[in-house]
Amino acid sequence: MVPDIVPPDLLAPPDARSRSFRHDDAALVLDGYLRRLAAQEARCRVVLGRLGRVFLERRGQHLLGFARLGDYARERLGLSARELQSLASVTERMEQLPAIRMAFERGEVSWAQVRLLVTVVVPETEEGWLALAGGRTVRALEAAIRELGRSETAEEDDGGPHVRFRLRCPRRFLRLWREVVDLARRMAGAELSHGQAAEAIAAEGLSARSAGCEVWPDTARQPELPGDVEETFIQLERAPVAEVIPEEVEVLGLGVEELDTFALDGRMRAVVQASQRIDWQMGRLLRVFLDRRLFRVMGFPSAARYLRERLGLSERKARALVALERRTWEAPGLGEAYRAGTLSWVRALTLLPVIGEKTASAWIARAEEVTVRRLADEVEWALVAREPFDPIAPPPPGAALDMPDRQTCARPDWEWPDAEIVFSAPAEVVALLRTAILAFTRPADPLWKGLEQLLEHVQVEWEGQPRHRDPIFARYGWRCAVPACSSRRNLHDHHLIFRSRGGENAQDNRVTVCAWHHLRGIHAGRVRAWGAAPDAITWELGVRAGREPLLRLTGDWYVGGTSGSPMPAV
Ligand SMILES: [Zn+2]
Ligand SMILES: [Zn+2]
Repeated sequence: MVPDIVPPDLLAPPDARSRSFRHDDAALVLDGYLRRLAAQEARCRVVLGRLGRVFLERRGQHLLGFARLGDYARERLGLSARELQSLASVTERMEQLPAIRMAFERGEVSWAQVRLLVTVVVPETEEGWLALAGGRTVRALEAAIRELGRSETAEEDDGGPHVRFRLRCPRRFLRLWREVVDLARRMAGAELSHGQAAEAIAAEGLSARSAGCEVWPDTARQPELPGDVEETFIQLERAPVAEVIPEEVEVLGLGVEELDTFALDGRMRAVVQASQRIDWQMGRLLRVFLDRRLFRVMGFPSAARYLRERLGLSERKARALVALERRTWEAPGLGEAYRAGTLSWVRALTLLPVIGEKTASAWIARAEEVTVRRLADEVEWALVAREPFDPIAPPPPGAALDMPDRQTCARPDWEWPDAEIVFSAPAEVVALLRTAILAFTRPADPLWKGLEQLLEHVQVEWEGQPRHRDPIFARYGWRCAVPACSSRRNLHDHHLIFRSRGGENAQDNRVTVCAWHHLRGIHAGRVRAWGAAPDAITWELGVRAGREPLLRLTGDWYVGGTSGSPMPAV
């Protein structure tokens, strides 16, 4: 078994230590351990990636009787297919880049940096890129790669498998749901899916109802602008973290080509088990670190930036680890089973919203007895069938999971749920949303009432913030209005007559543009726009002093009816 890095007294429930809590010291101590854990976790990922690559080449899932890779990965590893594929491809590319591999093993570049580097680096350019990566944040490195025209945004690869969220509700309730989803989109400046909106809703709700008095999620954070990379953290201690990989894990990555598929399965499970032990320690420390906003002490503007830059961890995974850690106060068995690897990540997440002190052992036993698919159905059933004031218990073994109509018959004052909200999202998101809903549900109310309370709370919070304003983005189809631009992310609201020059807030003075076009185009003088939104805006691209701009258009129409002058003769 992989030994714990973090000394036991640091892993003790932190309230016991809170009186003498000193923010500065605690931040440095916890950051040190978190970085070591993250380094160890990254080393485990490489071993998993190496095993995964051979498994994928062979289509191991078929040999083991699974039709799809996703089904195999969820059931046996508790991961998503995408995560396994991403680990395999990054590891494969890294193995062809010896300098990057060495730098990673010495702890000089993080996993997050490696994932970005392998998308552009070839053996001839390795050294140059390594030098460049050395003094930069992950975000700045990403920007440098984007400048090369590699726009593939490397999504975090620590996400759980997608699962379904379903909630029956009265038809009239769907309107509120759509309103708040739209509001979430305006807040984010992007056309979020229902799952992405749900993530923001859950985070906002949990920040209001989490057990601690101090809250972590800064859902209201301003979008970070591409030009303003403040590099305060560069001055932080950035000594390499050369965490040795536990020997037990190291050997699992040796001689993988000779293994049969069944052995690969066994080894992958063993690596996942070891990383869960590391994750469990991280969850413990992260809860204190994030609840007390110690990332601020270290000069980071947001939890997300800290997690990404220092630990290479996604905010989503961190939130879920912290929620799991919180739940283990009530249900210690949950944490123990996750730590020991008897419950996979996806199984632990599935149980997270429903498990409690009285039901912990029954749910954990059930989770080991059934497939993930069945477990998800049982949790969904138990949520609907729950009795007021009773803990939520698993159904009797083998029960048919007919959705009980009982609740509506028994309580005539409940509205008939004749519609439903359904979407699929990563397991972390569904677990956090359910947890938030339950936190807002009064014991005698149906779940959709809890969601209603949650949505009303979120609506008030968000509408109180300046960013939601008018639905200007929707008018442009959630796309940058600059001709020829395909950007749908990081949308900004630009005033055609600058507010600094007395421009009005009226809709015909406002246009939706992407962050690049806003800050580096319009406000940098490379792009000009005037006229009335939405249809009568004249655009000039490639503006230069004393000469005609490269292009002039009204909307998407070239002025003069041609997309350009004939090619000049060379
Ligand atoms: Zn502007
Ligand atoms: Zn644009």
